[in-house]
Amino acid sequence: MSVDRRALASALWSRRFIIGVVAIGLVAAGLALAATPRGKTAAATSKPVSSVAAAQAARKYVYLTFDDGPSTYTPQVLKILRAYGARATFFEIGQNVARYPYLTRQVYQQANSVQNHTWSHPDLRHVSAAVFRSQVQKTDRYIRAQLGYTPSCLRPPDGSTNKQVTRRAAALGKKIRLWTIDTRDWSRPGTSVIVRRALANVHNGSVILMHDGGGNRSQTVAALPTILRTLKARGFGFTTMSCT
Ligand SMILES: [Zn+2]
Repeated sequence: MSVDRRALASALWSRRFIIGVVAIGLVAAGLALAATPRGKTAAATSKPVSSVAAAQAARKYVYLTFDDGPSTYTPQVLKILRAYGARATFFEIGQNVARYPYLTRQVYQQANSVQNHTWSHPDLRHVSAAVFRSQVQKTDRYIRAQLGYTPSCLRPPDGSTNKQVTRRAAALGKKIRLWTIDTRDWSRPGTSVIVRRALANVHNGSVILMHDGGGNRSQTVAALPTILRTLKARGFGFTTMSCT
């Protein structure tokens, strides 16, 4: 009987041993599986060059645009842009370039882009071919006299465009550039409304329309720091529009 008990005890021990070995094996396999993704992550982050490239590719940009200037509000806009290291595109009216040539130079000297917004802001859908040409080319001449280059972007007044406007612009070497976000700051709806409109639905590549000329722009000036601070905190950079 005692032999049988020993045999039984021995059999029980060996079964516990087998269960124990299997359990250790399962735990080890589990640890190995858990370690695999961590190993891959470590390998990926050990390549600094590709990480930098990925960060650059992920950089988001917003295009700030200011129409109808230059005006006496332009220096205030420039000061705020400078404080945030931001660049913008200014669609200037030729008549205002003639009146404030030094402001057009200041805009450009601060690494902003100066582009064509016609001579006197007519609806380009309803002018003759000759008027269209003079509206664009006279503005070109005045900008060129100050900055030494001919603008290649044209923003039609009020964004009023059609196939004929696009065709006539192309014949003068111009690309039409509109916007995706209209703050309607010209109607002076209040600083907080301008801020809210500028920031709603903004995404990488958004073009925000504001005005540094054409009337009292104190609300636009007051709204700008909040717009820039918020977009910067969301990871956006600010650069000039391409005209090619
Ligand atoms: Zn305009």
